[in-house]
Amino acid sequence: MSKQIVILGAGYGGLLSALTVRKYLNKSEAQVTVVNQHPTHQIITELHRLAAGNVSEKAITIPLEKLFKGKEIDLKIARVDSFSVDNKEVKLSGGSTLTYDALVVGLGSTTSYFGIPGLKENSFPLKSADDAVKIYQHIENRIREYAKTKNEADATILIGGGGLTGVELAGEIADMVPKLAKTYGVDHKEVKLLLVEAGPKILPVLPDHLIERATASLEARGVKFLTGVPVTNVEGNVIGLKDGRQIVANTFVWTGGVQGNPLVGESGLEVNRGRATVNEFLQSTSHKDVFVAGDSAVAFSSDGRPYPPTAQIAWQMGELIGYNLYAYLTNKSLEKFAPVNSGTIASLGRKDAVAVIGANSTPLKGLPASLMKEASNIRYLSHIKGLFSLVYKL
Ligand code: NAD
Repeated sequence: MSKQIVILGAGYGGLLSALTVRKYLNKSEAQVTVVNQHPTHQIITELHRLAAGNVSEKAITIPLEKLFKGKEIDLKIARVDSFSVDNKEVKLSGGSTLTYDALVVGLGSTTSYFGIPGLKENSFPLKSADDAVKIYQHIENRIREYAKTKNEADATILIGGGGLTGVELAGEIADMVPKLAKTYGVDHKEVKLLLVEAGPKILPVLPDHLIERATASLEARGVKFLTGVPVTNVEGNVIGLKDGRQIVANTFVWTGGVQGNPLVGESGLEVNRGRATVNEFLQSTSHKDVFVAGDSAVAFSSDGRPYPPTAQIAWQMGELIGYNLYAYLTNKSLEKFAPVNSGTIASLGRKDAVAVIGANSTPLKGLPASLMKEASNIRYLSHIKGLFSLVYKL
């Protein structure tokens, strides 16, 4: 009898699980249902470019219907309201309920606000294409307003958090500001772009010489860094820092970190700080019929460290889960998660980047690093579309 596979989320983990399982199980062997709140798969590694208007929404959102064409995957566009792994039940917005023989949880992560007063209410997150579009529209409106009123707060853009998300966003906005300012007759030097980071340095995952390179590259384009000072409270457009300074900014984007999706914590799965713990086969440690991919999971490498919540890990988890679903449902041996680490690339706007590549962490900067970033986008898109001749239009 046909098995029921339900996949929650069509981000990197969910999408790759769905596409991969279909290589091993046909429709008569398993029904595959994918639930996603948006009708598109979003290339969220490119959100910073959309938030700065440097790429179109279409270029980074791919209709799921297209991706699933001919794959006999049942697509449901709905929000997951809750799921219970003890009852083997998923409740969707609109009232319908799904049951399963095997479940994949790939619901991603949410923005972390660390309980900082006023932060959530008064900042923009950057977690989806909608968020990114809102940020760009808001910045454009503020600059248009500034041209009329010369209210400095309208020309002040603050980014909270100097991890990869915040720094990549700063690079894109820095590249966009001159053109946008010119459109509204504003001197671009009047637009302030600030990034505040609690830790002593931005991009702590990279070696110091690349951090220096990134800092110099962005400062040359007008970005001002405030490091070693956490944001402690926000009231309206006034952002308070731990050292008592206050920044008045009418655009405040918060990129201070991510946390597990709350639905995972409420599902009955065993969790570690809100993310589901998994074994080496990416099965939940508490429920063997549940596989967990991407930021919803916390998986540990052989050296005991958790894998970071990155796209490259999520994608590889999804692929393995696709195979392991087949193995699990047909009583074959499951395969272990052994991801390839291709490195970390931080883009610094359109023409610059810093990176550590491959198992030896070879450092790269400038054009070669930018090209690597572009190449990794193309590789991903080619892979999911199965089209190696694909031209990625940006
Ligand atoms: P992050 O957690 O890596 O960085 C958040 C930063 O915000 C940290 O440096 C933290 O010190 C800072 N912060 C926290 N609280 C603060 C406060 N109160 N005031 C000021 N600063 C504060 O989050 P991220 O950058 O969104 O990245 C999340 C994950 O996604 C990471 O694993 C990252 O590697 C990955 N990622 C990768 C890429 C890439 O490979 N190019 C791009 C984006 C994200």
